[in-house]
Amino acid sequence: MATFDIIIKNGRVADGSGRPSFPADVAIRGDRIEAVGKVDGQAARIIDATGKVVAPGFIDIHSHSEFILPLEKAPEILAPFIQQGITTLVTGNCGYSPAPVNPRTLEQMKSYTMFLKGEELSWKWTTFGEFLDHLERRGICMNMIPMVSHGAVRIHQVGFEGRRVTADEMETMKRLVRQACPRASSMPQASSRRRRRSWSWPAPLRGTTPSIPVTSVAPVRPSPPPPRR
Ligand SMILES: [Zn+2]
Repeated sequence: MATFDIIIKNGRVADGSGRPSFPADVAIRGDRIEAVGKVDGQAARIIDATGKVVAPGFIDIHSHSEFILPLEKAPEILAPFIQQGITTLVTGNCGYSPAPVNPRTLEQMKSYTMFLKGEELSWKWTTFGEFLDHLERRGICMNMIPMVSHGAVRIHQVGFEGRRVTADEMETMKRLVRQACPRASSMPQASSRRRRRSWSWPAPLRGTTPSIPVTSVAPVRPSPPPPRR
């Protein structure tokens, strides 16, 4: 008889594919789901999910937890997310991400992001990669889909100066995004409403930084197809 670490029995599985939920057991070994269906086997732990829905972790797409994850107290502060079934955080929305950081404009970065933080971050990084390395070294309590933000990139280069960036400054800003993109996303958020894949800036900065096609900065991977229903 097969042995597992955990069997979740008698639940109703909603697997995230878009198809209707169905009654099934779920068997887990290590960090992998080994079986979904009628499971006959033994397990160190059996969870009776009668009357409950069993689903993959939910993705929180917008809570600015990027300013919580680096804190010592992150697991404690983010515990309610886990309790609600959220296992993955999308970070870097709205022009806010904790990297890249330029020591020259760090004080402006601190004030720009003050309202998002319970306490000040250590800011022990400059590039986006160093920020992610810092999180990995310390340990991260949830999955993360990081975006590099336009606000951080602009502050890195010109602080709060309300003027057009020069061609050289724009090249540096594009390089910062290019460096970050192997490990982060640059989402064409604001401009998606205009049905154009470009990278644009928040309202207060509009007119001071030209929109640039995101494909000129980093390759854009096609979105996965929607689930079949
Ligand atoms: Zn936001």
